[in-house]
Amino acid sequence: MQKFNGSMVADNVMALITQLSKYKAELEGKLYHEIGRFEKSTGICAECGQHHVLTLNDRHFICVACGAHKNRDLSAAKSIANTGELDLIAAGIVARVNPTSQRKAANKMKVFELSKFAVGSEKKEAA
Ligand SMILES: [Zn+2]
Repeated sequence: MQKFNGSMVADNVMALITQLSKYKAELEGKLYHEIGRFEKSTGICAECGQHHVLTLNDRHFICVACGAHKNRDLSAAKSIANTGELDLIAAGIVARVNPTSQRKAANKMKVFELSKFAVGSEKKEAA
């Protein structure tokens, strides 16, 4: 009789989720990037980046630095997206741009994939 292994099931589900995410990203011409397995995401305030220590029962938290009321999972998801964006910015794959028309609203910052704008082609012409 096969022994039921909870963590193995969770690993298989995670593999399926990543496969589907990759497939969907490629289908829509978007970037797929995985952040480090041990990158901290839980308990980070999505507004100011303050870290908090949460127990499994803490579903919401109020940021000690900025006072924002945060949903634990939503905040973790935003933190993961932010970490991924910073990875891609560091690798020179994307850039964060604040369109001139929306300069007053910092949250309207948009992310562009540099390869789609042929960045660096001006340098080649000048050389
Ligand atoms: Zn905060």
